[in-house]
Amino acid sequence: MLEKLKEQVFNANLELPQRGLIKYTWGNVSAVDRNSQLFVIKPSGVDYNQMTIEDMVVCDFDGNVVEGKLRPSSDMPTHAVLYKKFASIGGIVHTHSPWATSWAQSGQDVPAMGTTHADTFYGAVPCARFLTQAELEAGYEYETGNLIVDTFKQRKIDPIEIPGILLQGHGPFTWGKNADDAVMNAVVLEEVCRMNYYTRMLNPFAPELPQEILDKHYLRKHGKNAYYGQG
Ligand SMILES: [Zn+2]
Repeated sequence: MLEKLKEQVFNANLELPQRGLIKYTWGNVSAVDRNSQLFVIKPSGVDYNQMTIEDMVVCDFDGNVVEGKLRPSSDMPTHAVLYKKFASIGGIVHTHSPWATSWAQSGQDVPAMGTTHADTFYGAVPCARFLTQAELEAGYEYETGNLIVDTFKQRKIDPIEIPGILLQGHGPFTWGKNADDAVMNAVVLEEVCRMNYYTRMLNPFAPELPQEILDKHYLRKHGKNAYYGQG
């Protein structure tokens, strides 16, 4: 089932080491089929050189495995919660890419300091708090998903306008309209974190991007009046 989606998810997972986002198997990509309410995710801990399309695992939004010989990525319950609660996303990426993870460990949001950021993220990328002891005991990966959803709700942020988050002490999650788009957003977030770090080193008081420039760059690529690219 979902053979085409499995191929997309397989290829998107291979892109993580190719784009320099991960070492070993420290990452996972999934993509959803909204008609069947099922998603495809990479198996847990399988070497990328040995992994095949058939190894991809199909799961439902309650975190049950529907098809697959191997165990899904241990972060699968987080993906399930995000697909359930963020109804318009199509793909999800989680990595421990070093620049985004450094920001996550610093516990700070990633401010929009330049147009590289504004082309993809319509404002600061939030950093969610640490999980509590109670949340760890209730189910770490599942509660990570709930924390992401709650963070967006509390801050009144649209997950389409800001397609990613940092988890304090952990690393980034990004999403997009499909698996490739989610990977691209992970690459952008990594680059932006790296640039912001150097910007702050050069000038700790460097200003954030003025709102009108943020608007211009985000809205020329996204939304109904977008005009960037070939349409
Ligand atoms: Zn992780």
